[in-house]
Amino acid sequence: MFIRVIRGQLSFLILGVLAVQKHVVNIMINQISDKADRGEELAPAEIQALLEISDPAELQALYDCAYRVKTKNVGQVAYFRGIIECSNICIKDCCYCGIRKSNTQVERFQMDEEEIVREALWAFENEYGSVVIQSGERQDAAFIEMIERVVRRIKKETGGKLGITLSLGEQTEETYRRWREAGAHRYLLRIETTNPKLYRKLHPEDHDLEERKHCLALLKKTGWQVGTGVMMALPGQTSEDLVNDILFMKKIDVDMIGMGPYIPHRDTPMGEKIPPYTDEQKMNALTLGLKMIAVTRIVLKDINIAAATALQALEHTGREMGLKCGANVIMPNVTETGFRPNYTLYDNKPCTDENSSMCRGCLSRRITGIGETIGFNEWGDSKHYSERVKKELAP
Ligand code: SAH
Ligand code: SF4
Repeated sequence: MFIRVIRGQLSFLILGVLAVQKHVVNIMINQISDKADRGEELAPAEIQALLEISDPAELQALYDCAYRVKTKNVGQVAYFRGIIECSNICIKDCCYCGIRKSNTQVERFQMDEEEIVREALWAFENEYGSVVIQSGERQDAAFIEMIERVVRRIKKETGGKLGITLSLGEQTEETYRRWREAGAHRYLLRIETTNPKLYRKLHPEDHDLEERKHCLALLKKTGWQVGTGVMMALPGQTSEDLVNDILFMKKIDVDMIGMGPYIPHRDTPMGEKIPPYTDEQKMNALTLGLKMIAVTRIVLKDINIAAATALQALEHTGREMGLKCGANVIMPNVTETGFRPNYTLYDNKPCTDENSSMCRGCLSRRITGIGETIGFNEWGDSKHYSERVKKELAP
């Protein structure tokens, strides 16, 4: 009897403590969200508190706050970048990636010049304002020259109207300069993680975080709109790591961010140890991806943020959810269907059996369905970039 009374009082006490804690967290979220609405800077501890939210109502409050910041700074327009995955040949061996050079299970391909230009023209005719040309990393002269020719041809054949983003890995200053002069104007190079120990675990010895940072500096020096990003839900990654990632992106003053959750690939050193994600694991990775987008929008305000395809691999409407949490760029696949299954960075990549028209149609419907407009025929450059250039040119 006595024990039962004590047990009853204990559970009452625990419930009371939890209720008080929840109340305190609620007040804190409201305060942080008010600060964000007023455009004030958040302290690292506040950023971390936002990233650690798990209560559904608080999560929704965070997403709503990020959407307000997005609307105020960059509007409710989603810009399309048609992504052309032009080759899965890679000289790198990142331990998470399905097309790493040591994966012998992959059938390698390299599109020729004609194919890449044809796909870019398809994107142009279908009113996509820009394309992203992405591939595994190659640094040989033939590749560098081929990309330069492709960029020049796309510019010429679209009367300079199609925006071109490149995502072709680490290159020399000269290569970045050549591709920029050929007419491409945005470059995406994810830092992946800014935690040196974690970076080491994710990459072989000859891959270097400092070199990656140096490349981002070279891109800025050679006049690109610079994009970077990280993966989240990585084994061993903490919320503190993610705070530091956001602060790094802020410090280097990036113009665009493309980031998404890590998804295992079975034929990689990291992925082979991880059983396929359960529904709960998928949901956790998706939520973390959405939280990162939301918090990054709140902190960096006027940059472009892409809702990564990896979000869609975890949940069918993951990219639209990304737009509702602060992203403003979507990268529909315009790669010819035949090549798609061989560009598998992670397992269960979506849309590998669809063609480009299907992707365009279903995405457009879903985006207008959430009340956003699509910036057809527009480059949709990062507002942050124009502000940055104005400041740099100011006397
Ligand atoms: N080779 C270039 C571009 C292609 S890879 C580069 O590495 O920069 C593009 C992005 O895919 C990488 O930056 C990485 O963040 C992401 N990626 C690779 N493997 C992944 C995985 N298993 N899960 C989620 N994203 C992955
Ligand atoms: Fe190559 Fe990029 Fe994959 Fe690394 S992430 S193995 S560089 S394609």
